[in-house]
Amino acid sequence: MTRTATVFNIERFSSEDGPGIRTVVFLKGCPLRCKWCANPESQSRKPQILGKPFVCVGCARCANICPQKGITRREGMGFVTDAKVCTLCGTCVDGCYIGARLVMGEEYTAAALHREIVKDAAYYLHSGGGVTFSGGEPLLHDDFIVEYSDYAREGNFGMLVETCGQVPLASVRKASAVADGVFFDFKHIDPGRHRELTGADNRQILENLEWLDGNYSGFLSVRYPYIPGMNDDPEAIGGFIDFVAKLGNVREVWFLPYHRLGLSKYRGLGREYEMGDAKPLKMSDIEFLKDYQDRLSIPIRI
Ligand code: SF4
Ligand code: SF4
Repeated sequence: MTRTATVFNIERFSSEDGPGIRTVVFLKGCPLRCKWCANPESQSRKPQILGKPFVCVGCARCANICPQKGITRREGMGFVTDAKVCTLCGTCVDGCYIGARLVMGEEYTAAALHREIVKDAAYYLHSGGGVTFSGGEPLLHDDFIVEYSDYAREGNFGMLVETCGQVPLASVRKASAVADGVFFDFKHIDPGRHRELTGADNRQILENLEWLDGNYSGFLSVRYPYIPGMNDDPEAIGGFIDFVAKLGNVREVWFLPYHRLGLSKYRGLGREYEMGDAKPLKMSDIEFLKDYQDRLSIPIRI
């Protein structure tokens, strides 16, 4: 049987997910449930309907034509789909004349995905770019990534993976064996607090990061999403910096400021946004984190 992965977005011409011009492939499914997640549509491994509440004009046509009667109006969220009864027939998507409903998630074989990615091969070659697998958690699709790596190698462009690290070590080994770089997310140093914020403790994540540090020869970057009231206290930051300082193979640390770009997607899925009215941060708000530079021999980037 041909292996497939469920893709929910393909972003072309990205300049923020690795060197050069890149195509970022977002794969569905994630083992964590971070309160600040900006891609809630990535969490379920299955395709699902996403509404666009800021585009919807409230005509109720989708609710009227759904054969499952699975769409209802919800205060503050617009027309919400009941995923338990939705069969993904697409009637409401085709029937919404202004495009306020989407099916998130499409099955791709590695060959079909490559037909999309290779469209920008000339840009990769001239900029030193390539493809970046993101998510969700792309290492849930480790065998697919290994299969795709043959296409990247043949095309002579690079391949990176972004991971939350909450996967078996075997998946990290497989994917890192074929990836030119790994971007590794780090959410909180304290296992209990990590569980509160993401639904799982950080034992597996730290083990995987230590394994990569000791065994991986590609580019290893660690990324810390700086989230107000969640992991922004000096103990959390200091613990993170001290952990990274003991590693020998990490090339850089990024701090990423909290943003609220995922808010409308929670509404479109009929879900509450757990960050309440927390204010988004500007780069300048977290510039002070560079003060930790004297505790690290690798660059801190904002
Ligand atoms: S999603 Fe589309 S069809 Fe449904 S109420 Fe909004 S505008 Fe009408
Ligand atoms: S995809 Fe089909 S079953 Fe699902 S909400 Fe739309 S019309 Fe209803």
